[in-house]
Amino acid sequence: MSGTSIRPCLVTADPGGNIYDRPELLMVCRRGDETLLPKPEELIPLPDESELFLLPGRRAVGLDRESGELKVTDELAVAAFAAPAHTLTAHPVFAKDTDAPMLPLFAYGAVGFAAGRFYVCARKVDTDPRQIFKGISRKMLLDKAHALTRRYPDNRLIRHLACVCALRYNCPAARNLCLGRYEAPLPVSNACNARCIACISMQEKDSPVKSTPQNRLDFTPEAGEIVEIMLHHAGNEKKIPVYSFGQGCEGEPLTRFELIAEAVGAFRAKGGRGTINVNSNASLPKAVETLCRAGISSLRVSLNSADPLAYARYHRPCGYGFAEVRESIALAKAAGIFVSLNLLFFPGFSDTEGEYEFLGSLIREMGIDMLQLRNLNIDPDYYLEIMRGFERGPCIGFAAFRKRLGKDFPRLRLGYFNPAL
Ligand code: SF4
Repeated sequence: MSGTSIRPCLVTADPGGNIYDRPELLMVCRRGDETLLPKPEELIPLPDESELFLLPGRRAVGLDRESGELKVTDELAVAAFAAPAHTLTAHPVFAKDTDAPMLPLFAYGAVGFAAGRFYVCARKVDTDPRQIFKGISRKMLLDKAHALTRRYPDNRLIRHLACVCALRYNCPAARNLCLGRYEAPLPVSNACNARCIACISMQEKDSPVKSTPQNRLDFTPEAGEIVEIMLHHAGNEKKIPVYSFGQGCEGEPLTRFELIAEAVGAFRAKGGRGTINVNSNASLPKAVETLCRAGISSLRVSLNSADPLAYARYHRPCGYGFAEVRESIALAKAAGIFVSLNLLFFPGFSDTEGEYEFLGSLIREMGIDMLQLRNLNIDPDYYLEIMRGFERGPCIGFAAFRKRLGKDFPRLRLGYFNPAL
């Protein structure tokens, strides 16, 4: 059944995690402070490898089919965490109990049920299959991870990636390293020069976010350990291997730019092939310049907004500002490096008129090559509270947002993953 002819009903959960459909209530969704029925074009069948969450301390809300009024149920609200390559277009609607805890750092999509299946408000934004693990059993992953650590017993970074990232965090990039395919992660830094509100590797003691899905790397690898992984991965991925510095289990890679430059230089000197990417906050222009000279291929710059003030509110940079981010991008572009923006997409904020204006200006002025549309992992209410004062007028919705980007920037690549170049 296509998304154009469906009207999903509400789903709710009991505290035991059982999920029920409520045929008498229609699913509603939320963009910012606005509650509405999902647009037909934003409903897709829940993709494989997505997850459903029940939302503690939050009562599910639906639209009564007969009265046309919103109804707060007694059951818990449910949200979907969409599989990679999908961008959420709306959040679920719920009524919070007074003692509702803050939601952990995941992305929460509106979900409903129709004709025997779940539907989520999301769009697929990348056709690359690199984070699809269908048909790969846990046993196969365990065997591959253990084989990797046996082969390189002295490499601490391999042990971290195989035993902690792949097996404990279930990190898709680390699983791919074990499986010898696509993009290999290269975390190197435990330091950071920002204090992003929803940092997934470290929160301050007084942060209302009580836990992070990952912990910071607790050692600094040597260049030889990094190069060993790159050479190993190059031997496995026969197409175009991708290697990415800047991972969820580390701080900001530019704070270790000399180490990265040493590893990249050594790898390239050995004839190392493939796309070397740096996921970064782009805070240190001189470091970016050094890495471009050392032989990186692409730079991905994360940001919640292209408005310097909204950027500062969320990322809380220490010792740099948006001017440095722009300078880093300009230097990378001048060096012929492929530059992506990693827009931390939040429905009802990112897809507003005002945000589009800021983003469009940045893309135009800097000659950005790609826009990656990844979900911001955060409790929706917490983000709206943090960003109070930055409301940007009407929300145009994700479909119109994407269409407008395509029209205004026909050469801009849209997607989710760092491309093999
Ligand atoms: S730049 Fe990355 S590591 Fe640093 S605080 Fe932000 S999310 Fe965390």
